[in-house]
Amino acid sequence: MRCDACDAEAVVDQPYRRGHLCGPHLLDSVRERVRRELHRQVPGFRGGTIAVALSGGKDSAVALALTRAYFGRRPNVRLVALTVDEGIAGYRPATIERAAELCRSLGVEHRIVRFSERLGTTTDATAERLPRAIPCAYCGVWRRQLLNRGARELGADLLVLGFNLDDLAQTVLMNLARGEVDRLARMAPHRFRQPGLVPRVAPLAPIPEREVFLYARLAGLPFDHGECPHAGRAARNVYREVVWQLEEAVPGTRQALLRTQERLAPLLTGPTPPEAPGRCQACSEPAAGPLCRACEFLAAARNPIIVGPASAPP
Ligand code: SF4
Ligand SMILES: [Zn+2]
Ligand SMILES: [Zn+2]
Repeated sequence: MRCDACDAEAVVDQPYRRGHLCGPHLLDSVRERVRRELHRQVPGFRGGTIAVALSGGKDSAVALALTRAYFGRRPNVRLVALTVDEGIAGYRPATIERAAELCRSLGVEHRIVRFSERLGTTTDATAERLPRAIPCAYCGVWRRQLLNRGARELGADLLVLGFNLDDLAQTVLMNLARGEVDRLARMAPHRFRQPGLVPRVAPLAPIPEREVFLYARLAGLPFDHGECPHAGRAARNVYREVVWQLEEAVPGTRQALLRTQERLAPLLTGPTPPEAPGRCQACSEPAAGPLCRACEFLAAARNPIIVGPASAPP
């Protein structure tokens, strides 16, 4: 396989565009696609604070490095990396070390928000208390809330997430398959600013997971390769497999799923901002009902007998 741009040996094939690229041209191509995506999702950003969710894995490492490349050097932009420590032994400590190493090498301010301090529990402890619940269900809800709270406390104007093309295509399919059209409409990037919610952007949206991995490796970014010990039970796994099979059979399916979401979202929300969310009675965070989902899960974790794990939200 030869690179389309220079005839050197290719490191990646891109069946969705019938192309091949060598290492240096893949780096250029990822940088350019992310640059265009950032400007598409954040048109005319005039300065302010940008929080970047940094897990210590490859995706968020690339998102931070490229956000810094485009926005971080502007004198009117403050860039802060935000890491959530869910309390997962044998996994999270190493990723936090990589995240800190990356921030040091890029000269980016780094904040860590811990479940144990903010929620009074951890994912490991909850997995023990609620053995029948799927850990990613509450862990993901809690992490999203703490990322939003952490970004808001920093006064952030944007929260950058490291979702790649595969992640987003899986989420679109999952939301469609479950009939959760409201979630489809709420996926990043956000068209409207909602009170209490920092708008999320996903600049790696056009980049397949494999290319993000190669970018991180070729650019020499420190990242952790470990996998969360609870990941095997994630509902997402089946969608990962289905999207992979669809992409093998019909290259370009992932991009098509994303286009579907982009075309549906404005039809679902309409031209005006949706009604502002209410406030959770327990923690005052934005909520659709009396309690936010994070507090519903906390109640289940604290009292698995009254609010049993089988009745915990999926
Ligand atoms: S894989 Fe699941 S349990 Fe593990 S960190 Fe991610 S959301 Fe949490
Ligand atoms: Zn080349
Ligand atoms: Zn709450």
